[in-house]
Amino acid sequence: MLAYIGLGSNLKDPKAQIKRALDSLNDNNETELINASSYYESKPLLDIPGPNYINAVCKIETKLSAISLLNLCQEIEDNQQRVRELKWGSRTIDLDILLYGEQVISNKRLSIPHPEAIHRAFVLVPLFEIEPKIKMPLLGPIISLLDRINKLDVKKL
Ligand code: ADP
Ligand code: MG
Repeated sequence: MLAYIGLGSNLKDPKAQIKRALDSLNDNNETELINASSYYESKPLLDIPGPNYINAVCKIETKLSAISLLNLCQEIEDNQQRVRELKWGSRTIDLDILLYGEQVISNKRLSIPHPEAIHRAFVLVPLFEIEPKIKMPLLGPIISLLDRINKLDVKKL
């Protein structure tokens, strides 16, 4: 299965955090990293105080089910000492499953396509960089979603 993961960090050397998470995804036997976007910088959402974020999106090929992939993402977050406090608060690393093949999933632990992320510049712009022709289940072509957001919210590094 092809899947896309959005990564974000704003603490403890964010670029290194993202690099480490990408390496961990690739080191897993069931999962192979196919491509990763450039790094992008953005301000915290809703003007929540804190350092700017670095974000990226990657494409993986995986044998894991969606829920096992979520478990892997959360293991990687735990390994990088993510502390869960405020929703949308500062974090060493966040991995969100944006897309899992063409599947639409909605249960207690998982919503795919990721309902919030997929409308944000720091996800759409890097996703567009690696997959400009992608059509998202329920949502349509990425290009029409991009038209509706402010691309200046993110800066390519
Ligand atoms: P956020 O990413 O919104 O800041 P968290 O990373 O702390 O918040 O995730 C909160 C919960 O979101 C997780 O426990 C997970 O079960 C749920 N979740 C739902 N859909 C997804 C998804 N597509 N990818 C990652 N987590 C998801
Ligand atoms: Mg998350």
